[in-house]
Amino acid sequence: MAPNRTPKVIIIGAGIGGLTAAVALRRIGIHVEVYERARALRTAGTGLSIMSNALSALGTLGIDLGLDRRGRAIESFQLLTSDGRPIRTLPLKQIGDRLGAPSVNIHRADLQHALLDALGDRPITLGAAASGFETTADGVRVHFADGREARGDVLLGADGFHSVIRRQVAGPEKAREAGYICWLATAACPQEPGGSVRHYWGPGQRFGLIDIGHGRTYWWGTKNMSPAAARGWQGDRRDIALAFVDWADEVQAAIRATPQQAIISVPAQDRRFLDRWGQGRVTLLGDAAHPMLTSLGQGAGMAVEDAVVLAESLATVADVPSALRRYESRRRERTRQLVQKSRTLSLIEQFERPLPRALRDAYFRWVPKSVLYRQNQSVLRYRAAA
Ligand SMILES: Cc1cc2nc3c(=O)[nH]c(=O)nc-3n(C[C@H](O)[C@H](O)[C@H](O)COP(=O)(O)OP(=O)(O)OC[C@H]3O[C@@H](n4cnc5c(N)ncnc54)[C@H](O)[C@@H]3O)c2cc1C
Repeated sequence: MAPNRTPKVIIIGAGIGGLTAAVALRRIGIHVEVYERARALRTAGTGLSIMSNALSALGTLGIDLGLDRRGRAIESFQLLTSDGRPIRTLPLKQIGDRLGAPSVNIHRADLQHALLDALGDRPITLGAAASGFETTADGVRVHFADGREARGDVLLGADGFHSVIRRQVAGPEKAREAGYICWLATAACPQEPGGSVRHYWGPGQRFGLIDIGHGRTYWWGTKNMSPAAARGWQGDRRDIALAFVDWADEVQAAIRATPQQAIISVPAQDRRFLDRWGQGRVTLLGDAAHPMLTSLGQGAGMAVEDAVVLAESLATVADVPSALRRYESRRRERTRQLVQKSRTLSLIEQFERPLPRALRDAYFRWVPKSVLYRQNQSVLRYRAAA
């Protein structure tokens, strides 16, 4: 980077994307200030996948998840019918071996700890809810709900699905509701096979049962319902158990083993893909830029990749606005594709009627291994260079 003084990047949001960006930018000598709306750094108590591409991208930043202490590499990834009959094993373990980086499942809090460890001292101001920004020829000024202000050379909106920075960049938008709910929890379930991921498919419903290591299982369930019902869902564990009453024993056992307060519910949503993520000295990253449905397990992975590419662009392009546009153009096609692939897969996975389900299951049973490899490898490979 060629400026006369070290620039300062204001990062809004200390989620996975904001924290990774802070690590990546500091590694190239850029000052960062992170502002987080929450009053404490804590995460909802569920797991998530960090697939091979995201693990590779974290590796370029020297971030090691420390799998001996947290998380579990995927050893087997199975698709099954709702009553537990195998449909297909996906070659994610083999692709991870080929790429030299496994796909991993981890508790969100553990991922957050790994990122905070990598950050060292914490340039994070908590309880700071950004409300808007202004730009000048040589800087940005961010306003916070409590009247505070922050000034810097770059503004990075890493403030998630409901980003206020995106709202100012893109104008008001409506979320795209997918028409189903996701329930999620982490529990000490009856022991699952080490490193296993199992996705059960039923009519308009799915269940995921995932070993995140160290005696913990992450599970999620989905069920088709109207967008309004998914947004306003008020049920409890008994309702979830009822929704999966005829499913495989281990599915029901996982729900039974989970305390009510450990379960969270979120409506399945994404947004129309945004072509322009910023202007001048402002840009977006992660869910603020390209929120996607969860079917590929890549939302956090894309935030991590964004952070690495942003730092590379700022390190190699001297003019700050040009560096931000370069970052956006390097990320646009990859993230556009994954938003679309996640939508398509989600639609197929949530099929309710017997015929489409039968065709889907037959496809996954018989599709050649080489096609599965190709489809998955294109998502799981992180390409460092532009
Ligand atoms: C059910 C479900 C399952 C998922 N599973 C996976 C998975 O397995 N693998 C995967 O890769 N991804 C998964 N995702 C997606 C993943 O959680 C997101 O893509 C990822 O968290 C995005 O990171 P982010 O940093 O962009 O946003 P977030 O993690 O949402 O972080 C945004 C941060 O900004 C803060 N913030 C918000 N507004 C303001 C404001 N005005 N001022 C200051 N701070 C603010 C928030 O408090 C938050 O800390 C899943 C998502 C869901 C809903």
